[in-house]
Amino acid sequence: FGDRPTLAKLVFIISGASSGGLIAYADAKTDLGVSSYQRPSKKKIVVLGTGWGGTSFLRNLDSSLYDVQVVSPRNYFTFTPLLPSVTSGTVEARSIVEPIRNIIRKKGGEIKFWEAECFKIDPSNKRVHCRYTSAKHTGETDEFLVDYDYLVIAIGAKANTFNIPGVEDNCHFLKEIEDAQKIRRSIMDCFERATLPNLNEEERKKILHFVIVGGGPTGVEFAAELHDFVSEDLSKLYPSIYGLVKIAVIQGGEHILTAFDERISTFAEEKFQRDGIDLKIGFRVVKVSDEDITMMSKATGEFSVPYGMVVWSAGIGTRLVISDFMKQIGQGNRLVLATDEWLRVSGCDGVYAVGDCASIIQRKVMEDVAEIFKAADKDNSGSLTVKEIQDVLEDIYRGYPQIKLYLKSRHMSSILELLEDSKGNGKKEAIEVNIEEFKKALADVDSQVKALPATAQVAAQQGNYLAKCFNKMKDTEEQSEGPLLIRERGRHQFHPFRYKHFGQFAPLGGEQAAAELPGDWVSLGHSAQWLWYSVYASKQVSWRTRLLVVADWTKRFIFGRDSSCI
Ligand code: FAD
Repeated sequence: FGDRPTLAKLVFIISGASSGGLIAYADAKTDLGVSSYQRPSKKKIVVLGTGWGGTSFLRNLDSSLYDVQVVSPRNYFTFTPLLPSVTSGTVEARSIVEPIRNIIRKKGGEIKFWEAECFKIDPSNKRVHCRYTSAKHTGETDEFLVDYDYLVIAIGAKANTFNIPGVEDNCHFLKEIEDAQKIRRSIMDCFERATLPNLNEEERKKILHFVIVGGGPTGVEFAAELHDFVSEDLSKLYPSIYGLVKIAVIQGGEHILTAFDERISTFAEEKFQRDGIDLKIGFRVVKVSDEDITMMSKATGEFSVPYGMVVWSAGIGTRLVISDFMKQIGQGNRLVLATDEWLRVSGCDGVYAVGDCASIIQRKVMEDVAEIFKAADKDNSGSLTVKEIQDVLEDIYRGYPQIKLYLKSRHMSSILELLEDSKGNGKKEAIEVNIEEFKKALADVDSQVKALPATAQVAAQQGNYLAKCFNKMKDTEEQSEGPLLIRERGRHQFHPFRYKHFGQFAPLGGEQAAAELPGDWVSLGHSAQWLWYSVYASKQVSWRTRLLVVADWTKRFIFGRDSSCI
């Protein structure tokens, strides 16, 4: 279909058995107003998603070489690192979004955009099933198909509720611009509600109890923003109830900001304690009702506390379309889509994945782990002492910090607890960890763990890398191996994707931040905050958003934040 221009001019309304309704092809003129624009000489690239990965791919792609179509339920790109600032009105929602059609226009209008969500990927027929998301479009013409030669999946991830009862219904999430706007309204609603005359102090305290679940960068940044908003602005507007406000951060692990250097976690924890933010470290949320949140820790057991608002920021999960796709291609036991180092989805011709929805399988991990074990097991006994196991883990962590995070948080708890219990003992009889079992557990971790962090930095670099490969693909097409194929022996046309870490920030409120920069360099306090301002201003995707963001920051310095409930 894709390469036949005569057919492409026809109206295709096909009875779609798979979706149970009428399906239109986006390549042809349809009732949906989608025009025919087929250029059969060019290969079709379909990009799913207009986030960090998708947008970076589009901006760097030479779109004159391909017939490019983009599918995303949102017709804009969101600068997610500033989402927490939108929740308090430090910056406005419109200042951190860039219309995708602006980006397309700058590319000379070569790219087509469909505001729709992909709900099924069909790799055997090389097409994706999409549906319009607008409420106005209902019924049979809601769904359409898009053919591809190459598919770039960049649809990110969703908030992970871990199926904890009540989370979906009673908590706010902070993933999209709408989420940030809802949180902002909800904060103001809580303050207005808490001032009503018919309430007693207990009721006011409940309403003004703000709970943040998750002590990662998003949860911490939101807590800091909320604290600043309350202490710098709302304290002046609501002086009678200001003293009743409580902000709590619940974190399952031993510290907040565990992905950061230890100095940063400690600095952040101390700052939050000084600010009066209640840090509930080592607590696990088990239920959230519309009135209270139930949590537990080893020391306290299970208990519930009433709340006014909960923001859930406890990690990311797989979107349904990706889990369905993974089942189809034999990756059903994984949490994220596995790609090789060239970002190709294993076993799917022409399918690539970038960003939060994907993970590069580094085949080297288990080889390296095996080598480390071999070196440690000097007497070939098949088991190791506490000290030896600890050294092995340190070696593995050095090469693969993500495994450390994962082990700390969930897996292999029995082995780790055993190590913890017998610390200082060191006798071989006291702890005999079977190497084969240990390796099996690590292999399991390897299949679950995301080899690279789920950050904008990774997604943007992957999008950029892939676009550059596609730009050069034509040059390599004459080669017998074809585009983007790994030769069985010999050299690949493209070098594999290599992530370059430029550091990370954690804004902590009160014009202070923590910055972890390459070379183990850590900056804490006001200087890091100014660095944060300059980096995030420079990273904006357009001069328009850059100006708007800087204007918002200036406005906030002069007039404070806006507290209206709109
Ligand atoms: P996204 O950017 O999430 O984009 C996914 C795109 O896919 C969106 O356009 C979405 O509309 C679209 N989509 C969704 N479903 C479908 C579908 N079915 N069909 C088609 N399209 C679909 N990272 C950092 O490096 N630094 C930070 O400071 C930082 N701060 C953050 C703060 C917050 C509040 C959040 C939520 C994230 C932050 N991140 C940060 C992480 C970063 O935003 C993500 O890692 C990054 O967005 C991942 O990019 P992506 O392209 O994979 O997904």
